[in-house]
Amino acid sequence: MSAVTQNSAGNALRPLQPPRRYLFGPGPSMVAPRVYEALSKPIVGHLDPYFIQVMGDIQQLLKMVFGTNDGTTIVISGTGSAGMEAAVANFVEAETKLAVFANGYFSDRLTEMAKRQGADVVRLEKPWGATFTDHEAAEFIHRAKPNVVGFVHAETSTGALQSGQAICAAAHDAGALVIADCVTSLGGLPVNFDQTGIDVAYSCTQKGLSCPPGLSPLAISKRAMDWLGARTSPVRSWYLDLKLIHDYSTVSHRYHHTAPISMFYALREALLAIADEGIERRWQRHRRSHKSFVKGIEEMGLRMHVAEEHRIPTLNTVRVPEGVDEARVRRRLLEEHDIEIAGGFGPLAGKVFRIGVMGPLASEENVGFLLAELTKALSAEGYRQ
Ligand SMILES: *Cc1c(COP(=O)(O)O)cnc(C)c1O
Repeated sequence: MSAVTQNSAGNALRPLQPPRRYLFGPGPSMVAPRVYEALSKPIVGHLDPYFIQVMGDIQQLLKMVFGTNDGTTIVISGTGSAGMEAAVANFVEAETKLAVFANGYFSDRLTEMAKRQGADVVRLEKPWGATFTDHEAAEFIHRAKPNVVGFVHAETSTGALQSGQAICAAAHDAGALVIADCVTSLGGLPVNFDQTGIDVAYSCTQKGLSCPPGLSPLAISKRAMDWLGARTSPVRSWYLDLKLIHDYSTVSHRYHHTAPISMFYALREALLAIADEGIERRWQRHRRSHKSFVKGIEEMGLRMHVAEEHRIPTLNTVRVPEGVDEARVRRRLLEEHDIEIAGGFGPLAGKVFRIGVMGPLASEENVGFLLAELTKALSAEGYRQ
């Protein structure tokens, strides 16, 4: 037997057999059987008329989840961070003034990417878990006079949901474009792209869309497409150049890169599953599951980290009770019950659990199951109500 088929202990590598976890973390989320099946369909070429049609179907279906009629939808071959980098690389040039609403980890990542493009970044900062009021948003933008504004709709590191209405209104007033991180929100709650006035929204496949990780859907407003068309400096990232990707996927269908065919199949199927359920019904189901989750958490004597009116319905941050080691609770859930939940990080390290209730797990039955196991794990770790 050759060494490459042995593990470090000298035993033969066993066939791949991943554990079946209940993915109650912030993502990846659970994948439905029909989406797994789509992944195993025959590969066609990335310029095959069939695949061009698949890309077209996805662009159409994405309009439903983003809530756009007028926007252009496009898919980046890469995870959510590739979408973020595409938004930044295309719409933030050297010396662009970017105003960032900073209240968590992903607004920091956005800041870092913009700085690497040479942008002049100004930030309005708040503690992790807080959100910005309409007044604060307008005041900051009018004072900063930016070219581009960035905010995170659903901040996965904190559980806080930031409304975009006032941000977009003030930004447009100032002649600025708005980039919104909708990585966690897309598919699980309304993004309302047109109505909110977002110019560039990026997301991923593995959170609210219940699909494996690997692609990043974007929506781009007409204003932003016009801006991009008029941009004269070349986008520094060739791979993430949206004009080139748009040309491949929508216009000339000339080769840009080899799209990951199977992932596109999976995304098409995941979006079709959402359309079959009905987007409104899906949002309501997530909201109902969120409500019963929070009710159960409060009945256990625990507290949510974010104020009620600013919570993301699909990603809950629950405060770790005094005296409990949260890492041990998570390990117990994973090892004994195959349940994955996440902990906090940065300023929230050790202080919160991050619990996703989304996709196939957003049901009364699954929430009940999770709460029962969480109760047992907490009590085994010394929690007394
Ligand atoms: C997950 C996430 C990202 C990054 O997405 P990846 O798919 O991990 O690259 C960006 N922003 C937010 C809000 C996220 O939750």
